[in-house]
Amino acid sequence: MAKIQMKTPLVEMDGDETTRIAWRMIKDILILPFVDLKTEYYDLGLEHRNETDDQVTIDSANATKKYGVAVKCATITPNAARMTEYNLKEMWKSPNGTIRAILDGTVFRTPIIVKGIPPYVRNWTKPISIARHAYGDIYKATELKVGAGCKAELVVTDENGNETRALIHDFKTEGIIQGVHNIDKSIEGFARSCFDYALDMKMDLWFSSKDTISKTYDHRFKDIFAEIFESEYKEKFENAGIEYFYTLIDDAVARVIRSEGGFIWACKNYDGDVMSDMVSNAYGSLAMMTSVLVSPDGYYEYEAAHGTVQRHYYDYLKGVPVRINPVATIFAWTGALKKRGELDGIQELVEYAEKVEKATIDTIESGVMTKDLCIISTLENKTQVNTEEFLKAIAAQI
Ligand code: NAP
Ligand code: MG
Repeated sequence: MAKIQMKTPLVEMDGDETTRIAWRMIKDILILPFVDLKTEYYDLGLEHRNETDDQVTIDSANATKKYGVAVKCATITPNAARMTEYNLKEMWKSPNGTIRAILDGTVFRTPIIVKGIPPYVRNWTKPISIARHAYGDIYKATELKVGAGCKAELVVTDENGNETRALIHDFKTEGIIQGVHNIDKSIEGFARSCFDYALDMKMDLWFSSKDTISKTYDHRFKDIFAEIFESEYKEKFENAGIEYFYTLIDDAVARVIRSEGGFIWACKNYDGDVMSDMVSNAYGSLAMMTSVLVSPDGYYEYEAAHGTVQRHYYDYLKGVPVRINPVATIFAWTGALKKRGELDGIQELVEYAEKVEKATIDTIESGVMTKDLCIISTLENKTQVNTEEFLKAIAAQI
């Protein structure tokens, strides 16, 4: 059988620990036999990041700007323990943070749904994607304790030194204050990424905030979304048969719980932090959650939502075969290959990626799965397999 040819390379960002091993297996077993794979390879494994003073992470993000589509393996974000473990020159920053700062985008997390692993919310029969704004609000806040008898004010000084003041509170007793900000340009980028992704996925888009209480701050988010939708996306949404819908965050929560799923929920930074953990856990397993960074300039970076599965790596070093669930990483690869196929007009590549996704789901639904899923699956007949056996079962289906 002739292998599928590619035109433009994918940016391949290799990673760490158990996911690095599963990465190699996925390529060998599911991709290389079928696709004449073209990638520009960047080794984001911690050792190589350390050797290059983290330049490799920056280079990989810039390559994503050049080619448009990247696929990333999970990577270690160093902490004190990793400094000694890897003998690091510096406590290098989170690669995801560095990449996001260069591409400036929104992260969309979507669960992969299979029979036998019912969500805790029984009416969620379709996936709910969470889009989290990744800039500002309380994540860039300035906070102070305030003593009794103090007056706290907001002061804005313009270029000529003119001040605008607003009273926060006259403190009769001790208290606290917090200053937060956001930037129109970042909110606009967030809105465009969400509208583009909704069109891509052909899913409705919901956006929620608390504009009735936050009449200037949250209202600005609501207005920017509405303006961009009206002027740039309304017609495209009508043609695609999808809807944009704004509601208050508390109303959104009530509706989400009663819904059957099948939409994208755009959230402000804090709401997205909280809701994405709630939604991903309700769908059953972090190993079945994909993640894609969509930049407002139309660059895409696909990955799994989980980390490097550190505990299993130490087992592997002792000789235990790798038995992590590779599904989210497989879907990162298929997501990237599908997008590459769409951009380059290679229908065969799109179909191949869809075939791999279907074969992965069919394999699990036939009862063959890794340990983490075996524990939660309600299927009667289950066979527990390790990562390599699981990938071979998928390849046999393809
Ligand atoms: P983790 O790698 O997501 O794993 C946490 C636990 O979740 C694992 O010990 C395992 O549970 C379970 N798990 C996660 N993914 C699984 C999979 N595919 N198959 C089976 N079980 C899975 O999180 P962590 O241990 O907190 O972090 C490890 C490293 O990953 C850290 O250095 C962190 O910096 C990094 N990290 C990277 C990213 C990223 O690159 N996007 C994201 C998060 C964390 P059991 O042990 O019970 O089997
Ligand atoms: Mg969180």
